[in-house]
Amino acid sequence: MSKQPKANPRIILQANREARLLAGHPWVFGNEIERSEGRPEPGALVDVVDGRGRFLVRGFYNPQSQIVVRVVTRRNEPVDAALIERRIARAWAYRKRLMPDVTCCRVVFAEADALPGLIVDKFGDILVVQTLSLGMDMRLADVVKALHAVIDPVGIYERNDAPVRALEGLPPRTGPLWGEFDPHLVVEENGLRLAVDVAAGQKTGHYLDQQANHRAIRAYSQGARVFDGFCYAGAFALNALAGGAKNALGVDSSEDVLALAAENAALNRMAEAVTWEAGNAFDILKRLNAERAQFDLVILDPPPFAKNRAAVQGALRGYKEINLRALRMIPDGGVLVTCSCSYHVGPEAFQAVVADAALDAGRRLRLIEERAQNVDHPILSGYPESRYLKCLIYDVSQS
Ligand code: SAH
Repeated sequence: MSKQPKANPRIILQANREARLLAGHPWVFGNEIERSEGRPEPGALVDVVDGRGRFLVRGFYNPQSQIVVRVVTRRNEPVDAALIERRIARAWAYRKRLMPDVTCCRVVFAEADALPGLIVDKFGDILVVQTLSLGMDMRLADVVKALHAVIDPVGIYERNDAPVRALEGLPPRTGPLWGEFDPHLVVEENGLRLAVDVAAGQKTGHYLDQQANHRAIRAYSQGARVFDGFCYAGAFALNALAGGAKNALGVDSSEDVLALAAENAALNRMAEAVTWEAGNAFDILKRLNAERAQFDLVILDPPPFAKNRAAVQGALRGYKEINLRALRMIPDGGVLVTCSCSYHVGPEAFQAVVADAALDAGRRLRLIEERAQNVDHPILSGYPESRYLKCLIYDVSQS
């Protein structure tokens, strides 16, 4: 008889707690657990069983996190370096199939690619990696090896400074993991040249989740005066100019990101058509309302106002205010592009707050496009947390 591998320690769920897991959700919370058997170690594998002892899933254990188990597999199979490589190869094949011409994309979107806590973004030949769960962090060496085998990049950079790591008990850590390269890159997105600083930029350097939305606004840009609120490195404003906009004003609170935006405008010979203004978008919108400024195309893409459920009410007030002020600037026949990346503010709540703002602004709205995050950030069914970005495009008329 073949030798049986040593069984994993077990996590026994409370009675009738398995439905969400069985429906595809990839997390087990601490308050759903009855007890554990076999002394599971932080970051190691455990088998989760239902109240009657039946196997449900196998995953990474972290007693320090509210998410005590992150599902890796629903089968009785070894979780090893080969599994990580197979999953990365599958994730990469999906991107190549759906985005055959792009050089920049999210290669791995964590749980949605069955690699819990792992983010891999590709900017040309350079990969940026985040391991946001303890189990994945402990397997970073396997991840790097697999990325070499599957993608063969020129360099890999670690951006493990995301605040969510603290919830897993993990310290921040950044720097090159492999290869010699300048972290200040110039890449191509939608035919534009974009500077991306993988060491100092926000997140992993660029908001890849908006890639198709950046392109989509070109259809509404011809001849437009454009306001790009919360512009970061200016991708929306520059895409609008590429779509024929007359001019653009980009606003961001960070001087550093506006230096990137200015570099991007210059790289695409658009510097003369665009102005960047540093400041709080709330204050700038207020001032523009007082000046009765008009913009034919307004884009709002604020940071997540609600990072947890407790912050939702405040977030809704924030969305209401910026959308109200934006709508006041838009003349009849103009277009509003309004985004929310707060998972806790769902699609219906977000549409309701925009409708409320339109009522107060005396505008009528017609929803032209209801968009989400780019296809390289897939939405996993049974895991609503993976659907976070809303990007609504409205035609605006005076009522
Ligand atoms: N639209 C960008 C991404 C925006 S991310 C893109 O598609 O690439 C949100 C941006 O809002 C960040 O750059 C952040 O610096 C900025 N920001 C945060 N709070 C702000 C505020 N109160 N006023 C203006 N900008 C703000």
